Amino acid sequence: MPNNKRFYQLSSFPRESKDSRYLADGLINCVGKPVETSYFSAMSCIFCQIADGKKPAKVFFEDAQIIVFADILPRAPVHLLVCPKKHYASLLDLPEELLLKLHETIRKIATELSIKDNFRLIVNNGAAAGQIVEHLHFHFISNARGVKLKLSE
Ligand code: 5GP
Ligand code: ZN
Repeated sequence: MPNNKRFYQLSSFPRESKDSRYLADGLINCVGKPVETSYFSAMSCIFCQIADGKKPAKVFFEDAQIIVFADILPRAPVHLLVCPKKHYASLLDLPEELLLKLHETIRKIATELSIKDNFRLIVNNGAAAGQIVEHLHFHFISNARGVKLKLSE
């Protein structure tokens, strides 16, 4: 195997944990084998599939470059995932221009939902930091109750 690429040792993911469910789409035929992470981009990345409209999601907002959808397992009354449509695994790979657009989108979400003073942003960057889906995303989380989210399937 080349040294300059990262590999998942898929067998290391706990089979019964909630995390394995998220990975199921990408793991078919690969469990237990080392797999080059690039195999996960585009073809099998869950968020690429959502961005392409090939996998359903409750979408809050989208334009040509960005999609915002509800987390399938919300940890708070408002839990949205703010993603570039294009696959970037790491925040450090993201072009600055797109980072600015994501920031602009985050500002719009907070303003539109009237929670400018009550939200958190989380980026789990890298598997060791808890990143499960290897497609860069910001968790937009708020404990504000009674927020009406208009989501389209
Ligand atoms: P990470 O740990 O990678 O930062 O977070 C991944 C997030 O994606 C988790 O909060 C998880 O609940 C969410 N997630 C995983 N699979 C899906 C899916 O198929 N659809 C949606 N909407 N969210 C997902
Ligand atoms: Zn992707």
